[in-house]
Amino acid sequence: MLTLSSPVNQLSGVGKILSNKLKHLGISSLEDLLFYFPYRYDDLSKITLIAKIKPEQIFTIKGKIIFIANRRTFLKRKIITEAIISDSTGSTKAIWFSQPFLIKILKPGENVYLSGKTEFNQYGLYFSNPVYEKIAEWKKETLHTARLVPIYSLGEKITQKQFRFLIKQSLICGKTILDWLPQEIKKNLRLADLNFSLAQIHFPKNKYFLEKAIYRLKFDELFLIQLQNQKIKKELEKLKAGKIIFHLNETKKFVSSLSFQLTDSQRKASWEILQDLQKEKPMNRLLEGDVGSGKTLVAAIALLNTALSGFQCAFMAPTEILAKQHFETIAKFLKKFKIKIGLITRTDKKILNPKGKIQELKKSALLKQLFSGEIRIIIGTHALIQKEIKFKNLILVVVDEQHRFGVAQRALLVQNSQTQNFPHFLSMTATPIPRSLALTIYGDLDLSTIDEMPKGRKKIITKIVDHKDRPKAYQFIRNEVKKGRQIFVICPLIEESDKLGVKAVTVEYEKLKNEIFPDLKIGLLHGKIKKEEREKIRKELLENKINILVATSVIEVGVDIQNASIMVVEGAERFGLAQLYQFRGRVGRSDYQSYYFLFTESKTENTKKRLKALLTAKNGFELAEKDLELRGPGEIYGIKQSGFLSYLKLARLTDYYLIKETKKWAVKIIARDPNLTEYKRLKEKLMEVNKIIHLE
Ligand code: ADP
Ligand code: MG
Repeated sequence: MLTLSSPVNQLSGVGKILSNKLKHLGISSLEDLLFYFPYRYDDLSKITLIAKIKPEQIFTIKGKIIFIANRRTFLKRKIITEAIISDSTGSTKAIWFSQPFLIKILKPGENVYLSGKTEFNQYGLYFSNPVYEKIAEWKKETLHTARLVPIYSLGEKITQKQFRFLIKQSLICGKTILDWLPQEIKKNLRLADLNFSLAQIHFPKNKYFLEKAIYRLKFDELFLIQLQNQKIKKELEKLKAGKIIFHLNETKKFVSSLSFQLTDSQRKASWEILQDLQKEKPMNRLLEGDVGSGKTLVAAIALLNTALSGFQCAFMAPTEILAKQHFETIAKFLKKFKIKIGLITRTDKKILNPKGKIQELKKSALLKQLFSGEIRIIIGTHALIQKEIKFKNLILVVVDEQHRFGVAQRALLVQNSQTQNFPHFLSMTATPIPRSLALTIYGDLDLSTIDEMPKGRKKIITKIVDHKDRPKAYQFIRNEVKKGRQIFVICPLIEESDKLGVKAVTVEYEKLKNEIFPDLKIGLLHGKIKKEEREKIRKELLENKINILVATSVIEVGVDIQNASIMVVEGAERFGLAQLYQFRGRVGRSDYQSYYFLFTESKTENTKKRLKALLTAKNGFELAEKDLELRGPGEIYGIKQSGFLSYLKLARLTDYYLIKETKKWAVKIIARDPNLTEYKRLKEKLMEVNKIIHLE
């Protein structure tokens, strides 16, 4: 018997090819299918009498096939299929192009529904390529016509008809899903049942049922997150953390050693963090602030105080480049304090020794110094979470640009630590989320925000550049280089392994180097470039020996070049809005006027709309929402980067009412039954969800 966890290839009509195509959509089980929701519905529910149809509109008719045959067009030698359909009020024609097999499917005398657009020529009115569906006694309902028809986002590889057929089959197994929502909640809020909702979201009987279904499924999405948050909160309350002493004098000394003043927001955030660190309860805090708002500095203050208290802290970055940059920044900031600081990535092992010198180290030596507690601050990538890395007394973990870093991962980090304490945790992100929402969505985290940029920064001028304005833009770039500024040019690279992308960036590099700016020094950086070469490029950039750097999006999360004043994005339409927003943060890091040019060859309305959103949106949060609306959930940051946002298929971060309501219920349920022993199904579901959102 088929169950929800059965693989899709057990459905009839799914062979190897189709199951591979489904895999591309992230669908491998029947459950995945059921939770792959339509993105819109075509209302073809109204049946029109043939006598009433008009040209150039979409209609659904119900009639009998009187005649059907193939013929060849005279000039183009293409096959077209023609049919005459009639009902009690009259008859009309239907034409299909290049589908000769239709005469084997639709036979004279059969009753069908046809839906599609009508057209008009010298021979009269006809349906052009209509969707057809046979009417039969045994069929309870139609799937493709004469109803609210679900439309899925499938690309070009799978047809809507094929997909609906699969959904219909899985819905039959779906009837056995036990609802996970507590009866009490369903009753209280009059929420629809799970099975009903799944059936209706795919094949709604009417708009009212559809609304009920969506509401219920949205509730689930948000409720499960809230439940998880409350559970984490409860768990953390039971754990003990180490106290970090606030070293007032040293902190003052550090701050006054900087060449700039802290912004008020930085001051406040630092203070909030230091308050938390002085407690015995593990800190669980999110620090949010736009790119360039100076989060690293705030982290440095926390790291300094931890190290001075005699404990160890870890600072994790999402990429090697960024880890390295953080190491250099922190090493520079804290040089005077004679603290041993380490860097560990796949390719780099270094320390800043107490004499203020940076030296390379063997991995084994570095691990030894971590275990002995000599290294107080360790900076690295996720390579830090490894069995072989053992700490003496790790009590603070700072994580940059990871939306979620689970309690379980923290536990992993300290599994080898020689203390019993659970580490304090600080997460930093440049994705700005309005305060009220962050507090509910990231309900387990306390929040600090940096909502101002350092003084002297100018607003970045953003322009969408058409093909015809390219020469002008190049002239502008040339002038900036003349003034001594540096330029970034980013080319699309969809995946790390994307060969096409690497080719595109190389072609662009050659073009700029040989044709457009033969007199300037152009650099090239992408994921396939070797470490030594990369290092050289980075150095040359810092020394302004490279005027223009052509790169793939590897540059996105790194490289702090204050002298860069123009960021150019090639093929801008191929990037997500949130990503484009992050790119912009790579310039405008000093008091030079900076520019952001989005080059696009695409002329579609949708592209224009998306890119324009970048000009008008007030923050990254608004953009993420827009992207969700215009490109669909999977595309926002790419599923890889944010399991969290792609997990929200229906709910929006702007569903304020539902967010509030789901939180209320989550608090209630967890207070009553923290381990969900009374709610077995809910607990199972929660574990599944947890895997999705924490797998980042
Ligand atoms: P974020 O991590 O928030 O994107 P960074 O911490 O990388 O930002 O800071 C960006 C740049 O701004 C760095 O070069 C940093 O030294 C500098 N900076 C940080 N705080 C200030 C400040 N208060 N005034 C001037 N410059 C600052
Ligand atoms: Mg940063």
